Amino acid sequence: MKNIVTFQRLLEETRSSNKRIYEVFQELESYMLERSIEDVRQLMKRNLNVMAASVRDGLSHYGPSPSGMSGELAQKILRRYQNPNKSAFNPLLGKILTYAVAVSEENQRMGRVVACPTAGACGIMPSVLIAYAEEYGFNEEEQVNALITAGAIGKIIAQQMELAGAVGGCQAECGVASAMAAGAVVELMGGTNEQIVHAATLALKNIMGLVCDPVAGLVEVPCIKRNGFLAIHAVTASEMALAGVESFIPPDEVVKAVKQVGVLMSPLLKENSEGGLAITETAKKVVPQP
Ligand code: SF4
Repeated sequence: MKNIVTFQRLLEETRSSNKRIYEVFQELESYMLERSIEDVRQLMKRNLNVMAASVRDGLSHYGPSPSGMSGELAQKILRRYQNPNKSAFNPLLGKILTYAVAVSEENQRMGRVVACPTAGACGIMPSVLIAYAEEYGFNEEEQVNALITAGAIGKIIAQQMELAGAVGGCQAECGVASAMAAGAVVELMGGTNEQIVHAATLALKNIMGLVCDPVAGLVEVPCIKRNGFLAIHAVTASEMALAGVESFIPPDEVVKAVKQVGVLMSPLLKENSEGGLAITETAKKVVPQP
């Protein structure tokens, strides 16, 4: 079985085999890992359980962060959706926003999270998977299908560019997480394989250029709130794709463009806290934690 490194090849494979993206990718992973498909799915179930636990943990912890820059953000958002007075968001979107921030806060506390694709972007995938499952009743197998779909998207992008803020800016971390989540949502909602790939592409190309400028070198500001924003961004992309909106620029060309933007991006905006928000007057007053 040959590896799949482009979205074009992935879609060709789904068409010729008449399979869903997750079916093609779980077979590929099974072949590459020399494990059964059931083993691959069990691994994904374990990841799913850790994601669910990170949402619960994130919502049950209180107190400010050691740096004083954040703390109880998810609690504040949760309270708003417990009593939503004329909110623009329905319960699903309220949960997604809350869960994304909760998991990202859990990462800041050094709690257990799934790096998906990185720890800095860890809130985006769990938030959509778990909120959609809770609101629409998707079972564990359906969530695993969506998680494998997201994994396929992340892996194809990772084979073409580095998924690290230090190399490609935050577009390579939260941006890719948002693309993975957008595809996962389309899988959950019964969209086509093509819609899955277009959702991922729409999400990815609309965060192009997002820089990595963490204050005091901590994965906290702007990272925690950004997870909330880009989880909702994923839903926007999925809704467009499910409506039949496609990316004019083909998926693999978008990945190439994002990679190129990462190369062109100033090194000062790639995780070393020497540019952007990290060198604002307020940021300079924050003492890095040991
Ligand atoms: S700003 Fe940088 S450190 Fe923070 S999530 Fe994005 S890539 Fe990671």
